[in-house]
Amino acid sequence: MAHKGLQAVRGMNDLFPEDTVAWQALETILREQLRRYGFGEIRLPLLEHSELFARAIGDVTDIVQKEMYTFLDRNGDSLTLRPEGTAGVVRALIEHGRLRGTQARLYYVGPMFRHERPQKGRYRQFHQLGVEMFGLADPSSDAELIALSARLLDSIGVRAELQINSLGTPEARAHYRELLRQYLRPQTERLCPDCRERLERNPLRVLDCKVESCRTVAADAPRLLEHLDSESAAHFQQLRSYLDVLGISYRVNTSLVRGLDYYHRTVFEWVSDALGAQGTVLAGGRYDGLVEQLGGPATPALGFAAGLERLLALRALAGSAYPAARVQLFLGALDPQAMAAVLQRAEALRAGGVAVVVGGPASLKVLLKQAERSEAQMQAIVGAAQLSGDGAPIRLREQGGSGTWEGSWSELESGLRSLGVDFGTPPPHTERNPMATRSVT
Ligand code: ATP
Ligand code: MG
Repeated sequence: MAHKGLQAVRGMNDLFPEDTVAWQALETILREQLRRYGFGEIRLPLLEHSELFARAIGDVTDIVQKEMYTFLDRNGDSLTLRPEGTAGVVRALIEHGRLRGTQARLYYVGPMFRHERPQKGRYRQFHQLGVEMFGLADPSSDAELIALSARLLDSIGVRAELQINSLGTPEARAHYRELLRQYLRPQTERLCPDCRERLERNPLRVLDCKVESCRTVAADAPRLLEHLDSESAAHFQQLRSYLDVLGISYRVNTSLVRGLDYYHRTVFEWVSDALGAQGTVLAGGRYDGLVEQLGGPATPALGFAAGLERLLALRALAGSAYPAARVQLFLGALDPQAMAAVLQRAEALRAGGVAVVVGGPASLKVLLKQAERSEAQMQAIVGAAQLSGDGAPIRLREQGGSGTWEGSWSELESGLRSLGVDFGTPPPHTERNPMATRSVT
């Protein structure tokens, strides 16, 4: 048992092999779909200068005001564990001069950090798949991005509702923000404490609040969609017609706003009702002003992020289970001499594609226990007698089954094959591994 006090930080989870099989399977599927849309992976630092997030996400957002893990490093620099990925992607593209008149399609998968109240579906270290497109202003790109999000969810069997909205330009939004304040002020007592604060600094966020009484107030608020500038209205209309052509159904949710300040025009979310209050599994939109705001060339951009914990929870509800990767053979040695042969043989088998765990040198009793614990498909235990060539056979036994095979040490491979052990297809470089071909003496 861990010493008292040595515990993970609250809201941060440990994942063991039986958990990571599902994560790996999920990531494999997502990456394959992203490939089909021409996206490449970007890997960025988890730490950035705090200023980046204050400038990108916005000073008045919940994330920057309440949720960031910010600290001074040994040089006295203020650093922040990334609460989201877009700011870092934009920073990197500007820093490396990759935005001049070009288009980019990038994605990332990894941990994000927010100091929120931990609960089901909400953690302090959580994981996102983030997707970003740069240099594309036309609503066809919004449609393509949403089609990608639909395909991702579809490919992992997650059912959710697509909600879309337009936030217009920042100017149109500033005007609307004032209208909204005027509507909300007389009803302050009906709002939750958070929203009372939001009312002045970021009233759009009130529309997005999950508290019931706030929802009731929000329901009758003036609608941003009815106060859009004409270009944004046309952009939204065109997006809707592309979605129709693609057969992607959606609901226009006029109170859909995003928690981050940088969105322009299109915002969208995929929402599931199967996860209780934490129902948003994937969310994004267009952020045309952000690159310039961070000091880069004016570049239209759009993207989304999906919470992997929530995707996995929905997959589990849908009943798609992942078999744990199983060791195929436990090979035990009864004495040091047999151990040397076992180590060598294990290398040869691994080079040939078989998952092998070795044990020993140890007594038969100990090895049998180890074999059982390994949950390997097969087990074999060898000692001097089996290796000396005096005819004592090797016995392969199926664990949790009745299959057995007896033969000589040199025939072990065919024994495994005869019991149905899958040798898979070894990656090409393992064939050149000298250990695979060296003979066992
Ligand atoms: P919410 O309204 O749930 O707080 P958000 O607007 O803060 O979400 P984004 O910043 O857009 O969320 O992040 C995109 C996705 O990342 C969310 O839809 C969700 O699936 C996931 N996500 C966000 N915060 C958390 C968290 N604390 N724990 C787990 N997943 C999260
Ligand atoms: Mg949030």
